[in-house]
Amino acid sequence: MIVVMRHGSSAESIAKVVHFVEAAGLKTQVSQGVERTVIGLIGDKTRIDRSLVENMPDVDEIIEVSKPYKRAAREMHPDDTVITLDNGLKIGGKNDPVVMAGPCTVENWEVLSEIAEAVKAAGARVLRGGAWKPRTSPYAFQGLGEEGLQLLARAREETGLPIVSELMDAKDLPLFLKYPVDIIQIGARNMQNFSLLKELGRVDKPILLKRGLSATIEEWLMSAEYILSGGNARVILCERGIRTIEKYTRNTLDLSAVPVIKKMSHLPIIIDPSHAVGHWDYVPSMSRAAIAAGADGLIIEVHSSPEKAACDGGQCLKPGVFAGLMQDVRALVKYR
Ligand code: PEP
Ligand code: MN
Repeated sequence: MIVVMRHGSSAESIAKVVHFVEAAGLKTQVSQGVERTVIGLIGDKTRIDRSLVENMPDVDEIIEVSKPYKRAAREMHPDDTVITLDNGLKIGGKNDPVVMAGPCTVENWEVLSEIAEAVKAAGARVLRGGAWKPRTSPYAFQGLGEEGLQLLARAREETGLPIVSELMDAKDLPLFLKYPVDIIQIGARNMQNFSLLKELGRVDKPILLKRGLSATIEEWLMSAEYILSGGNARVILCERGIRTIEKYTRNTLDLSAVPVIKKMSHLPIIIDPSHAVGHWDYVPSMSRAAIAAGADGLIIEVHSSPEKAACDGGQCLKPGVFAGLMQDVRALVKYR
């Protein structure tokens, strides 16, 4: 249920509604938009006498939110949420799309620093790199673990780029906060790891929540809801392709997720074309399409020697191709 306040309603009227609702044991989420202020009610609505709220000063109307995701819903927060990283970089809203780039996995300092310098020079604003890798085979390279985070922290210091890296297990969270990792990525395979999502609700770090391999948009938003309801409002959604009958690409990029999410939710959404298509030569066109569709950013795998990459070499762009793509991205942004 949301209470829509009249345009220009006073702080006192807003506080009165909040106080009344909270006194009945519900929680509130106040969203002060340009056009209007809405007060979201979360909890047992039967404890509220609707007609009493309707007659409070400056209350315009009361709308039922039928969707199971409440805090992630656009109705609750009519304006786009803008996520600010600890270095001040803003993702979402009317800000220019943010491109995150780097290797699939951190391998060693030489390779990481070469890639980090290259993506920075091309215009990437965040460095990606996995330290723990969710591999289908237990015999495949599993990531460097803590050493990977150490190398990412060094690259962060040398380039000034914030870091995004995947957390697979809550037990490693203290390490992510220690180094630190600026955006904690939750991979597709963990999108419905609810105990992990609950832990992230208590963390003061932005979370990049990837869409599960076979998750519907509603299931994805319900996962975001776990993090939001725990108290962490900084959630960025990431579409990375879903399982379909098509085998020619690694997954099928559901680009329609961009306008659908924009309508259903206020959270920013970025696109991962690399894991979606699985072949480097399809990555630039899907990246351009994502920017044209209104995505708030991209996360792209780049490697200086893809043929030698420890993981996902076939979908990594070489730095030169990435630099060319960044020029296209900058050109397209002007038309949004
Ligand atoms: C990754 O970003 O390296 C990754 C494993 O992604 P996903 O969870 O989307 O497969
Ligand atoms: Mn990868």
